[in-house]
Parts: sequence; structure tokens; C-alpha cells
Amino acid sequence: MSELLYGSTRGAAGKVTASQAILKGLADDGGLFVPDGIPVLPMSMKELSGLSYQETALAVMKEFLTDFTEEELRACIDGAYDDKFDTKEIAPLKEADGVYYLELFHGPTIAFKDMALSILPYLMVTAAKKNQVENEIVILTATSGDTGKAALAGFADVPGTKIIVFYPKDGVSPIQKKQMVTQKGANTFVVGIHGNFDDAQSGVKAMFGDEELKKELDACGYQFSSANSINIGRLVPQVVYYVYAYGRLLQQGAVEDGEEINVTVPTGNFGNILAAYYAKLAGVPIGKLICASNENKVLFDFFHTGAYDRNREFILTSSPSMDILISSNLERLVYRIAGNDAGQDAALMKTLSETGRYEITEEMRAGLSDFAGGFAGEADTAEEIRAVYERTGYVLDTHTAVASYVGRNYRKVTKDDRKMVVASTASPYKFTRSVMEAIDGKYDGMEDFALADKLAEISGVPVPAAVEEIREAKVLHKTVCEASEMKAAVKSFLGV
Ligand SMILES: *Cc1c(COP(=O)(O)O)cnc(C)c1O
Repeated sequence: MSELLYGSTRGAAGKVTASQAILKGLADDGGLFVPDGIPVLPMSMKELSGLSYQETALAVMKEFLTDFTEEELRACIDGAYDDKFDTKEIAPLKEADGVYYLELFHGPTIAFKDMALSILPYLMVTAAKKNQVENEIVILTATSGDTGKAALAGFADVPGTKIIVFYPKDGVSPIQKKQMVTQKGANTFVVGIHGNFDDAQSGVKAMFGDEELKKELDACGYQFSSANSINIGRLVPQVVYYVYAYGRLLQQGAVEDGEEINVTVPTGNFGNILAAYYAKLAGVPIGKLICASNENKVLFDFFHTGAYDRNREFILTSSPSMDILISSNLERLVYRIAGNDAGQDAALMKTLSETGRYEITEEMRAGLSDFAGGFAGEADTAEEIRAVYERTGYVLDTHTAVASYVGRNYRKVTKDDRKMVVASTASPYKFTRSVMEAIDGKYDGMEDFALADKLAEISGVPVPAAVEEIREAKVLHKTVCEASEMKAAVKSFLGV
């Protein structure tokens, strides 16, 4: 098999192998790594539909990560997708209310980030060995709530690594926060910042681009890598579950072989939906990719006007993992619709960093025809949770509800009635307060864990272990700092 190389969306960095791209996270020129071409699935959907999740993962990932041996990939996959997940299917598909919810929250931290972050540490350590890396790897991560915990859980006590997570102190749910600040592991470090997710992400990006800091770290035997969704080691494992979902539909006879489905994804950093797009390009029969936003609807506006404009108020919503104004992975789509023209992409990204805004050409807009954009306001989201629960007894989390509402609305407006898969990105237990208040105002003011017990009662789904284990857990991380002090916090933690 010929090797698939990765280059930067901004073009100035050379080509690297998949394992090098995973180790680096971000390209040296500040761009994102993209494969030289999207590989085509190695078997028909019919054949793929007979495979387990782990076998599907191997079939897909070996096409993208060509410098890993099959044995290495198998070891990574078996280490990641084991009984940390509370179901053998790993990503079950549940039909409710006329759509198929692809439940991506059965991992250790009950959000879809586990799908990629349970395997990333294995890929990273394998990549380090492969490239004779002697330094200890320091994972530096900004989180809007879910990535942080999933990355902490994945990297805790992994030899040869340390992990540092920054989260917006007042921008995550109480359960999300408790999950992070109670994280065990001598190599973990969790910091709340006074600021929002974009501040945290900008601070992290600045450290990645800081040559001085890089030298200081290297002298002490450290190097940074990223567990954020810009890392292709996260993107590639996410392609897997779209292949798997189509396989399940085919196996159940819900679709004919080759019949197109639509996919709606609750979107923040544009990683999950980009993986769905890659799955489509690789051969999964997907029609429209419907990008669902909450009130921070910068992506909705982009799809409707061709202008990306982050100059707006940042709104805290009940779907905090989507409260993002700079969707990093969108750059990979922009690069593609620019005809893989790194110069054009780099110019747009420069304009974005200077003015907070850019506009794509008419020609580029034509490249967006696979996508549709929609958004749900806070009231729409709450109403969707209540209505789906009342009709079916199935309880959606707030993020999934945004997508569910947007998907339903898309269907109504366009009359496009292809089968719909909605990416279900979190367990309702992760956002219990918002979910329960949406279902009935009488739950307003109840204590968080009491609400979890109530949710178990009304949904018939038991409280997940991830919630049980933090009820009584001790807070181990109390550091809080200004966004401007993030670098100092990192240096102090590492003793640099
Ligand atoms: C991270 C996250 C999202 C957004 O996913 P992106 O890949 O960043 O677009 C949506 N829902 C939940 C629950 C998340 O944790």
C-alpha cells in the first residue's frame, strides 16, 4: 500500500507521515494537517456492515494511518474500545421519533469525545516510539468541557506523557467541572481560567507557536502535543462511527445498499461533522451533512452568507460544548473548497486573525453544497427535549437536542425525507440540570445528584458509572488563573 502523507492547510510546512502529524498536532506554519487525499473505503458497505466496531475501526484507520502496522493499530483499537465502554456495540444506533440517534456517549466520560480520546493516547505513544522520540510528551488542551475530561481519562498515568487542561472557569456544567477537578493521576494538571473557551484555545495555540518556549521545554526533556480536535489522531477515529452507523442501518434493513442518508451533527469546533464529511468522501452514502449550531451560530451564518464573522457576543448556552466562535476544523473544509490552495487558505486565516472575519469566494461557496446549516435557540432546544421525551420516553441531552431540532426543521423546510442519523454527543446525565428543567419546571432548584436519580426514574436508564463515581470524589485540582497567565502555569507545573 502506498503511504498517505499529510500536509498543512497553509502549505509552508513540509509533508509528514500520519504518526508525525499525530505527534505534532498542529503544523509548524500554524495550519492543520490534511491528508493528501481522502482514501476510499477498502470494502463495500455490505461487507463492512458485517464487522464489529473494532473491525470497522481497523478497516477505516489503516487506510488513513498508513505508517502504522496492522498489528500496531489492532493493539491501539483493542486497548481503546474495550469494557471502558458500557456496551459491546460501542456506538449503538437508537431509533426514536423518526430518526436514528447514533449514541456516541457510552465511553468513560459519557460524551462523544471518548470515541477519539480513548484511542489517541495509544496512537500517540505508538507514534512516539515509531519516531524515536526521547522527550516526554506534554498534552496541552483547551476544553469547552468534554474534551478535557475525556483527554484526562485517556492520558492519566500513561507512561511518557503529562497532560495539562485549561477550561473556562464559569463556562462548563457542574458535572463537567466536577469530573475534571477530581481527576486522579500524577501526570494530570487542570486549570480553570477567567475567560471563555476561545480565550483558552487562543492561549493554547499561542504556546504551540512559541519557539522560545519550545526550546526551553526541549532543554528539560519535554515536547508539546495536542489532544484537541485539530489532531488527525482524533479526526480519523471519528470517521469510523459514521461507517459503522451506515453498516448498522444496512444490516437492520433500514436502508437499501447505496441508499443515501442525511447526517445531522451538533457542532462546535467542526471536528465531528468534518469526520462525517470525510466518511462521505471515503464512500459512505451520505447525502446532506447538516451542521447544527446553538445561539453561537457563527457556522449557520457562514453556510448562509459565505462570511465567517466571529465579531459577536459570546453566548453561554445550555449546550456549552458548542459555545465556540472559532471553529478550528472549519479550516480543513475551507482549504478543500479553495481547491486545496494553501495560499488562499493562509490568506483567509490571516484575515481572520487580524479582523475576526473573512469571506469566501462564490466559487468556494459552490463547494459547500454537501452541507446545510441550521441553529436552535435555547427555547427550541428545551422544547425539543420535552417533546421527544413526551412522545417516546427517550431523553436527549442538550447538544443532541440542538441537532435533533435542526434536523427536524431541515426535513420540514426542504421536504428532503432521506433517513436521518443524528449524532448524539452526550449522555443526558452530563447536563442533567438543563435536561430535567426542560422536561418539567418542577425540577428547578433540585440538587445535581438528586436530579440524576430522578432522571434514572423517569427514563429507565440507570445513572452511569461516570456520574456515580464523582458523587463523593475529592477535588484534587484547584488552580485558577487569568488567560494571560496560562504559560506561567504550564512552566510552573513542568518545573521549567
Ligand atoms: C465537543 C462536543 C460537541 C462539538 O463537537 P465538535 O467536534 O467540536 O464540533 C458537541 N456536543 C458535545 C456533547 C461535545 O462534547
